[in-house]
Amino acid sequence: MLSGRNALITGSTSGIGLGIARALAAQGCGIMLNGSRPPEAIEGVRLGLAEEHGVPVLFGQADLTRPGEIAALVAATVTRLGSLDILINNAGIQHTAPVEAFPSAKWDQILAINLSSSFHTIHHTLPHMQGRGWGRILNIASVHALVASVHKAAYVTAKHGLVGLTKVVALETAGLGITCNAICPGWTRTDLIEPQIMAKAAALGVDIETGGRALLAEKQPSQQFVSIEQLGQLAVFLCSEAAAQITGTALPIDGGWTAQ
Ligand code: NAD
Repeated sequence: MLSGRNALITGSTSGIGLGIARALAAQGCGIMLNGSRPPEAIEGVRLGLAEEHGVPVLFGQADLTRPGEIAALVAATVTRLGSLDILINNAGIQHTAPVEAFPSAKWDQILAINLSSSFHTIHHTLPHMQGRGWGRILNIASVHALVASVHKAAYVTAKHGLVGLTKVVALETAGLGITCNAICPGWTRTDLIEPQIMAKAAALGVDIETGGRALLAEKQPSQQFVSIEQLGQLAVFLCSEAAAQITGTALPIDGGWTAQ
């Protein structure tokens, strides 16, 4: 379905980003992986993905706190893959602390990676998409783009902002063959939430699996984690022609979290 298209997926050396890369590659899409670690760290995954699906898979090292490196990453994607049709803004980090104890350096870092990097990627990608008359932009937000939780001031602020950016870009590109949407996952078992599971398990004096179930019980009515594969398939759908009129949305995939 996506044969001839090429995607840049930020923060795709693990977790949801890598899962979306796998799902897009399975549809014939060329892939630019990205992370801040050196290329050797992802070489095995890169080669495996390319061989399994017979598509070009490249890696662009870039620290998304640095706008200059983001500009170079977008330019390298266009030059090396030949186009940039699908942009997935996925990179994100978390830090939990009460507002009065929240380190200001962590605030700046989370705002830079979870919000500003998406402005920079979109800023550099849009002229290219406009020139081709087709594009899909998916911002991986969170349930925390729609509701709040304690101790996540920077994360909740950045994710709410990302939905605002999504809406503006959707309006500015409406009718041009380009869509921009935010995906809002609930708890998904990745490295990002492992510290929160461990903290919960420690607080309750239980093992990690029981800690995970306790975390789900607090917020996610389905009591099941969202899977990386489900997120990949949602991304594929939003890149399809069936989704051409879906733009400016913030789509929860959260086991009922935000229905409460
Ligand atoms: P993850 O830790 O596996 O992935 C985060 C990715 O971002 C990693 O590949 C990491 O290398 C990359 N990254 C971090 N800082 C970077 C930087 N400065 N430059 C380049 N890359 C950088 O976690 P994940 O859960 O897969 O997170 C992916 C996205 O999904 C994040 O935006 C996160 O907020 C969002 N999300 C996750 C959950 C969840 O429950 N896991 C829920 C809602 C939203």
